[in-house]
Amino acid sequence: MSKDWNAEEELKPLKLKCTKSDCKNELHCFLQKSSRKVKATTKFGQCRDCGAELIDWDRVHKRDLSEVKHTFVSLKYEWIRHHFWHTEIDQYAANHALRKGRIEMRKASEHRIRKYVGEVHEMPDGQMRPYRDEQQTPFSGNSIFYAQHATACCCRRCMEYWHNIPKDRDLTEEEIGYFTDLVMLYIEERLPDLTEKGEKIPPIRKKTPKKSSTEDKGAKRSNGN
Ligand SMILES: [Zn+2]
Ligand SMILES: [Zn+2]
Repeated sequence: MSKDWNAEEELKPLKLKCTKSDCKNELHCFLQKSSRKVKATTKFGQCRDCGAELIDWDRVHKRDLSEVKHTFVSLKYEWIRHHFWHTEIDQYAANHALRKGRIEMRKASEHRIRKYVGEVHEMPDGQMRPYRDEQQTPFSGNSIFYAQHATACCCRRCMEYWHNIPKDRDLTEEEIGYFTDLVMLYIEERLPDLTEKGEKIPPIRKKTPKKSSTEDKGAKRSNGN
């Protein structure tokens, strides 16, 4: 796969926080706090802020594609997943996907999951994990990134609690296949114009040639978030 994002972009501080919640609006955070005291007193999978128990974890942890509707409904109870299910996919990322088409996007998704999330390596602290784990998936620039955050296959911490996969080993082929399916289901839902082999989409023009400044503003597409 070609480089669709650059390292500079990835190193920018992240504006979104995975631990954000808005419990009054039923948008929670199910990542457990890491202190031992908290671990001892809370049940796995409660919202870390309000204690809500909304997820049938046994069912989600089966990673059964025939249950994907239930899995997606569950994911949307978490603030960060909900955000990525509803935020507009930036124009650059949408165009990129529409140009590539379903077949190529599937290949790219599988590659992304295998290489950036699936492979663990021994780190200087002796632990096994992917390179730059928890920061390897940018928040924009490629529809695959949006899909990974929405379906909790962005990093090994999210995969651990949402999909019950230990952090310190390579993903199996079956797991890579499952996450590729989740990513593609997301992309197909969010980009319904995606075709099998892709379409010609003109590039985004950065400079609109010689028009009045007011017209320019009107024609400019927003860059998402
Ligand atoms: Zn909550
Ligand atoms: Zn993550």
